[in-house]
Amino acid sequence: MYRTHSCGELRINNVGEQVTLAGWVQRIRKMGGMSFIDLRDRYGITQLTIDESASKDLNTAAEKLGREFVIQAKGVVTERTSKNSKLPTGDVEIKLTDITVLNASLVPPFTIEDESDGGEEIRAKYRYLDLRRNPLKKALELRHKMAQEVRKYLDGIGFMEIETPVLIKSTPEGARDFVVPSRMNPGEFYALPQSPQTFKQLLMVAGYDRYFQIVRCFRDEDLRADRQPEFTQIDCEMAFVEREDILNTFEGMIKALFKNILNLEFNEAFPRMSYADAMNFYGSDKPDIRFGMKITDITSLVQGKNFPVFDSAEYVGGICVEGAAVYTRKQLDELTEWVKRPQIGAKGLVYIRVAEDGIKSSVDKFYSPEDFTAIAKTMGAKVGDLILILAGDSKKTKEAAGTLRIEMGNRLGLRNNSVYAPLWVYDFPLLEWDEETQRFYAMHHPFTSPKPEDMDKFNSSDKNEIALVCANAYDFVLNGTEIGGGSIRIHDSVVQQRMFEVLGFSAEEAAYKFDFIINAFKYGAPPHGGIAFGFDRFCALFGGQETIRDYIAFPKNNAGRDVMLDAPSKIDEVQMKELCLKSTVTL
Ligand code: ASP
Repeated sequence: MYRTHSCGELRINNVGEQVTLAGWVQRIRKMGGMSFIDLRDRYGITQLTIDESASKDLNTAAEKLGREFVIQAKGVVTERTSKNSKLPTGDVEIKLTDITVLNASLVPPFTIEDESDGGEEIRAKYRYLDLRRNPLKKALELRHKMAQEVRKYLDGIGFMEIETPVLIKSTPEGARDFVVPSRMNPGEFYALPQSPQTFKQLLMVAGYDRYFQIVRCFRDEDLRADRQPEFTQIDCEMAFVEREDILNTFEGMIKALFKNILNLEFNEAFPRMSYADAMNFYGSDKPDIRFGMKITDITSLVQGKNFPVFDSAEYVGGICVEGAAVYTRKQLDELTEWVKRPQIGAKGLVYIRVAEDGIKSSVDKFYSPEDFTAIAKTMGAKVGDLILILAGDSKKTKEAAGTLRIEMGNRLGLRNNSVYAPLWVYDFPLLEWDEETQRFYAMHHPFTSPKPEDMDKFNSSDKNEIALVCANAYDFVLNGTEIGGGSIRIHDSVVQQRMFEVLGFSAEEAAYKFDFIINAFKYGAPPHGGIAFGFDRFCALFGGQETIRDYIAFPKNNAGRDVMLDAPSKIDEVQMKELCLKSTVTL
C-alpha cells in the first residue's frame, strides 16, 4: 500500500498512529540536529520530522532529497510543540522511521508556491508543475464543482446529457471554422463545431425536449486577450418553451450555482433589461450593474447654444461621476487623451465640475450658469460631482460613454470582484447591416427567431424595415461580462429559408450548407429554444478572477499556441500526401 492517509488528513486525534504518506517534497529545512520536510499532495501539506535519535540510514536518505522528489514516508503521528494554525494538519507532524524515494525530480524551473517566481511563459511550458500550485488547484476544483452542480441541477429537472459529434460541417456562429482534412475523402474537410447549435435543434426535432451538454467548442478567431480557440460551453436546449420558460429554468440553475458554490442567495428575480435600454443607459449590451453612473442623453438640452461640437452631433450624452469634482486639470487632460484612444474613439471630452464654489467647465464660453444648473439637474449631479460629456454619432458615442463609465468604475473601485450582479438582456436586433460587404449578418446566429410581432417586417422587401426586426434572443450578463446567450429558434422551414435569403445566401448555397436542418423542420419540428453559457468564464467569475486561463487545465497562450506541446506544428510529408495537402508556406 502506497499510503494510509493523504497529506491533508491527519489531525490531533491521530496522534500515536503509525502512518504511511506519499507525496511531493515541498520544502526541506534543517534546524539544529533536526530536519523538517513538508510533504505535499492534492489534499494538503504534512510536516515530516527527523530528529537526533533517527538512524543514520534515515538521515542519509533525507540528505539526498530535493524539492519535488516523490517519496513515501513512514512514521508515527506526534503532537507538534510549535503548532501551525495556518495548516489544517498544523497540530501534528510525522516522526519519520523510513523514507523511500519513489521518483527523483530535477530542480523545478520555478518555485511551486502560491506566489511563484516563474514568469507566464515558463509556467505554461511546464504546465504540469504549475498545476501543482494551490491557486491553480483551487481553480480546477472550483471548475469541477461547477460542472457537478450543473449536472446535478439539470438532471434533477429532467435534462438529458447527450454528446454531439466533433467532426462536422460548419456551424455558423460568426467565427472561422477550424477544419480537419479527411484522408478517406480526398480533398474534403470536416469542420470542428463552433457550437453544437444545429445538433441540439435536431435533438428537439427528435423529441429529446430537454438537452444539455458540457461541451468543447472551437472558433478560429483573431485572438483577443483572454480568448481561447477551444473553450467549453454549458449548452442547453428545450422544446415547447417560450422565452420566459428558458429564463426561469436557467435562472434557477444559476441561483443553485451561486448558493452551492459561493453560498450566495439571490431571493429576488434577476433584473432584466432590454437591449435598447442597455445601450441607452450603459452604452453596452452587457452592462455592469454593480454600480450606477448611468449614461444620460442631454442632446436636446445642450443644442442650439452655438457650441458647434454639440450642435453638429447626432447625440450628446455623458455620465455623472460621484465625488470626482476634485479631479485636477491634469487628470482631466489625461482622461481626455484616454477617450481619444482609437479603441474608444471619442473626439474629445467636455467636463463640468460641480464644485462648492460653483460650476466650472471646459465650455464656459457657450453656456450660462442656468444652462449648467439644468444639465446638472438632468444628470443628477450634486455638489462634489464631475460630469463627463461626449458627443458625436449616436451608437458610437453611447459606446464610448459606456467604456468611459467602466473606466471610471474601475478608477473609483466600484467593480468589486466579490460582488455579483446578474442581469438578463433581451430583445436584441435580429440583424446587423455590414456596410463593407453590403449585407446583413445575424446578430446571434441564423437559427434565431424574429419576434412574432415583427414577422411582417422580416418578410418585407425594404432593407430598412428588415433592419428593425427584433430577435427573440437573450443574454445572461454577470458583472459586465456576457456569460450566456440564446434564443427562441426558428422551427418553420419556410421562415428558416427566408432567414437564409435575408442573409444573402442563394437558394443553392443555403441548400448546400443547411439542407439537413431545413429538411428536419419539415418533419414535425416542435417550437424550441435554448441557451449556452461560457463555462470557462463562468468559472473564472465565480473564482473572482478576470482571466479564464487558470480555469482550464491545459490552455493555449494569447497567440493560440500550446507552448508545452509546441502546437500547432508541421506534419510530415507522408501525412501531407495522404491528406492530399500541399503547403504554400516554407518554414
Ligand atoms: N449556439 C449559441 C452560441 O454558441 C448559443 C445558443 O443560441 O444556444 O452562442
